[in-house]
Amino acid sequence: MKNVNVSVIVKKKYSDKQIIDNRTSFDIVLEKVRSLNYPFYIFSESQDNDYLYFDGSVNSLLKQIDFHIKKFNNIIFFNSDMPLYDIELTKKMISAHESNLADFTFAENYPSGFSPYVLNRATFKKLFLISTGNNSIYEYNTLKALIDLDINSYDVEILSPEEDLRFIRETFSTSNKRSFLLTKNFFINDINSNNILEKLKEKPEILRPLPSYITIELSSKCNQSCVFCPYPKIKKDSFIKLDIIKLLSEISSWIEEGYIEFSGIGEPFTYPDFETVLDLIRKNPKIHFIIETNGSLLKPWIEKLKDINNLTIIVLINASNKEDYKRIHGADDFNIVESNIEQMIKNKIDVYLQFVRCRDTETNLDGFIKRWEFMKDKIIIRKYNDFSGFLEDKKIVDLSPLNRFPCWKLQRNIFIDSQGYLRPCYQDINNNFGFDLNILSIQEAWENLNHLYKRHWDNIFDSVCNNCDEWYVFDF
Ligand code: SF4
Repeated sequence: MKNVNVSVIVKKKYSDKQIIDNRTSFDIVLEKVRSLNYPFYIFSESQDNDYLYFDGSVNSLLKQIDFHIKKFNNIIFFNSDMPLYDIELTKKMISAHESNLADFTFAENYPSGFSPYVLNRATFKKLFLISTGNNSIYEYNTLKALIDLDINSYDVEILSPEEDLRFIRETFSTSNKRSFLLTKNFFINDINSNNILEKLKEKPEILRPLPSYITIELSSKCNQSCVFCPYPKIKKDSFIKLDIIKLLSEISSWIEEGYIEFSGIGEPFTYPDFETVLDLIRKNPKIHFIIETNGSLLKPWIEKLKDINNLTIIVLINASNKEDYKRIHGADDFNIVESNIEQMIKNKIDVYLQFVRCRDTETNLDGFIKRWEFMKDKIIIRKYNDFSGFLEDKKIVDLSPLNRFPCWKLQRNIFIDSQGYLRPCYQDINNNFGFDLNILSIQEAWENLNHLYKRHWDNIFDSVCNNCDEWYVFDF
């Protein structure tokens, strides 16, 4: 019997903005879905008479599909905010799905947004059943996440590209400003699943429309001297030489959403006007802020941190006892830091604990994990960083991928140092690549780094990049 296939488009709220020639992401997805020549149904989370309504949750979507679509063998799921779906790849997926009688088919190692999900009727019914009571919002990866819960009980068909494209590590949708610009760049450059690498080699800067993670060094001064930190070797104490209010205003109107971290070589809480910093965090709710701190100066601030929702505190604690703490951190603050962490947990502040693995800390790792095991997924174990050879090599394990690819920090991050220079990363201790933000706007300085990024795509790694072991560390 011939397969009866239907397409489902889930209409997402950021798909009505024009991408090109008066066409929105939704128009483009619709046109692509029509070209498959299957009946299609559009489900929307807003009450619009033109489309079938669901309340935004995964269970509601599957329930409405079950109610409205009676006759089908397979469903192909699309999202309206992903205009880069590759229809040739989709046809290959459907063909593989049908000929191998698969339950679920997806494309692996392609960037998110190039391929839909295909599932058969029995799998649809099963997912509908297990989603009962699941009120989480339906997202692009929801179906795959449900399959992953019990992947061995499905016949899964996977399509992979000839070359691994995972390192691009971006989601191509129109759901926020950065993704929108990225997706638009790909769209106007005619990029599909077959020509991604060829096109990016010509114009890699299209992967850098905006940064997603910005680190600001409020202070290069520290009250500790950790054995794995460049601070004891540099000791150039200063506070940021830029107007922090102006800086935050420039950044937030440029990126609109994303992550800003206060960290760097110094301890952020030594910055004398932290009150203003907290005020700026509160005034920018679309940006998520992270403060990376040794935790020793937190006490007077805990009360003020507890009502801020867009903030995460990461406390660096690299020892499980007082004596080793003093040796590793160069300060006798173990009890103070533990007490501050406990206070933050009690006050429901979003706090993570970070431990750097290196020769000096390794014997403390087990004790650290046991002490804080109740925090489970809020523990970050970081590898040692020698700052491109600036510090002695103390690493325990080598985590670097076998094949080098263009640096993720250069693709997605910015580091603004306390002198007011924009650099691609904190690795560049001697400021080989920095641009002075007293002269250039942040956007100009960011765009000036395109040439360095292009050199990475040409497999040329200059100065600190050559000895770097941080290029594959992905922040957000
Ligand atoms: S390769 Fe290393 S030094 Fe070069 S930009 Fe990336 S993180 Fe910085």
